[in-house]
Amino acid sequence: GVRRMRRFGPTVFAEMSALAQRTGAVNLGQGFPDTDGPGSLLEDAVAALRSGANQYPPGLGVPELREAVSRHQERWYGLRPDPDTEVLVTAGASEATAAALLGLCEAGDEVVVLEPAYDAYPALIALAGAVQRSVPLLPTADGFALDRAALEAAFSDRTRLVLLNTPHNPTGTVLSDDELTLVARLAARHDAVVVTDEVYEHLVFTGHRHRPIATLPGMAERTLTVSSAGKTFSVTGWKVGWVSGPAPLVAAVRAVKQFLTYVNGAPFQPAVAKALDLPGAFFTEQAGDLQRRRDLLSEGLRSAGFGVRTPAGTYFVVADPAPLGFDDGTELCRRLPELAGVVGVPVSAFCEPGGAAAGASAALVRFTFCKSDAVLLEACDRLQALR
Ligand code: PMP
Ligand code: GLN
Repeated sequence: GVRRMRRFGPTVFAEMSALAQRTGAVNLGQGFPDTDGPGSLLEDAVAALRSGANQYPPGLGVPELREAVSRHQERWYGLRPDPDTEVLVTAGASEATAAALLGLCEAGDEVVVLEPAYDAYPALIALAGAVQRSVPLLPTADGFALDRAALEAAFSDRTRLVLLNTPHNPTGTVLSDDELTLVARLAARHDAVVVTDEVYEHLVFTGHRHRPIATLPGMAERTLTVSSAGKTFSVTGWKVGWVSGPAPLVAAVRAVKQFLTYVNGAPFQPAVAKALDLPGAFFTEQAGDLQRRRDLLSEGLRSAGFGVRTPAGTYFVVADPAPLGFDDGTELCRRLPELAGVVGVPVSAFCEPGGAAAGASAALVRFTFCKSDAVLLEACDRLQALR
């Protein structure tokens, strides 16, 4: 393969899911729900498929989905993207992010990224020929916080783009208004575009609130907001996502998307459009149920001897095995199937080797709780073997 991709091997998710399969371990590594999304959503997709929505949809995405995305942004955040020019449907959040980076970065442009970072980001930045400038999210007593000095230092006159992710995978951090305000101020000062990956926007727990950076004063005009049906509706395999923002920025993403996949997900798009209009109870009940499972797994991890930082959002919890005598999360994850019959993902897989984030999270392991109670209880039971 090309030189700029050589440092990227197979993804940690593929590696750890294969390990789980080979060993029969409970897979709390890769984040995918073991229960599919709402029945009405699945039925609507079947109906769309049967009624002939099987050929290329429009390049921007079907109008009903673009309109539903616009309504969703207004209903939850008071934003109102024009469905005809300010919304684009993509093959998941992944394609939206990829096309944004490829469509907005010249070779050598700098991209400011929170680290730990979702594993696709460094690879996409490299593919775009851009340069990653990492800002660590550092462990605190009860969570993770942005290193403000490092954030300021990460910006330069070559900064083209800030790639945000809140709620944040893998740490479960929901960026605070103060943190977002600082990012916004720096982005404006350096005339940078913000691309914000908000796929976990509806998986946020009591006491926390997700705030899109596009809602901050002056930010809508420089922000591309990305989300997807995968997490909100528990259909990670559908790969229907979207990006919204100012028309010229959306056009830059579309210019790339048209040559990556052209279009995607014809029968899924109308179904997702309807799901976005589901009543508020769907979203709050789902978050509440997930919070219950967060607490179930966190308790199990604590009683097995891990240190646990309770996540504010997402379906991931980061556990610290140092109290159990393990200081290398990667090695622990390789041995965990044999030691306890469970699979997790090392947080260092989300970090550049040798950086501040890698150092701070060397021991940490991410577990997902988007699984049924029985699976989580079995995992908790097995993890007691580590004591
Ligand atoms: N961003 C983050 C932070 C994620 O965790 C995921 C889930 N794999 C994605 C993007 C990918 O989303 P999609 O499946 O919609 O491409
Ligand atoms: N977003 C999921 C995770 O972080 C799955 C990612 C993937 O398999 N590419 O576990």
